[in-house]
Amino acid sequence: MDKFVIKKRKCVEEASGSEVMVDDEPNSAGLSVCSKTTLAGAGKSKPRRSYQDSYLALGFTWCDDELGPKPKCVVCGTELSNEAMAPSKMKRHITIKHSHLSDKSLDYFKRLLNENKQQKLSFEKKVKVAEKAQVASYLVSELIAKNMKAHTIAESLILPSCCAVVRTMFGAEAEKEVKKIPLSDNTISRQIQEMSCDIEKSVSDIKEKGMSALQVDESTDVRGKAQLQVFIR
Ligand SMILES: [Zn+2]
Repeated sequence: MDKFVIKKRKCVEEASGSEVMVDDEPNSAGLSVCSKTTLAGAGKSKPRRSYQDSYLALGFTWCDDELGPKPKCVVCGTELSNEAMAPSKMKRHITIKHSHLSDKSLDYFKRLLNENKQQKLSFEKKVKVAEKAQVASYLVSELIAKNMKAHTIAESLILPSCCAVVRTMFGAEAEKEVKKIPLSDNTISRQIQEMSCDIEKSVSDIKEKGMSALQVDESTDVRGKAQLQVFIR
């Protein structure tokens, strides 16, 4: 089930492109001082510049790893190289790119940094809800297909039933979340098609390989339900 959702997530990421800013944020205070370190490489050690709290007053936070922090502009999100972790270079960025903000105070940039963090959190939350809704949608499609029911049952019966149950048990807010699950006729039809094509492909792959082993086992569980297990290798 995950592979269908992961495939979808990739498509969304590609579509949104570089608009999505995913970076390593500093600690909860947003102000962190990284220890001064050196990078050992081919016998040479390259000094790395560290981030100082006072750089936020210049409009810069930091990203990447603590061993080689990169200055990141809190206004436009531009990441500079570690070598640019110097007040004069950061000041130059603000003066050239955001001249109207060059005389802003530390509080202004603190507020901006917090707003950026809040935006990132709410975006991540939305993505998580969308992903869960996709998984739920595929699970419903799988159940419908396994039970040989018409794909239209999701929109006409399953969704209204779920909404009624959730509204009664957990309230209107929870119902709103359930309504985010894509269960339209077209979606369910497409997902069933997608899953059956995937099974077909797996079977044809096994056939193409020529050599396969089939192991079948049947038993009855404690409730008296017959069970059949099939392993194909
Ligand atoms: Zn900038």
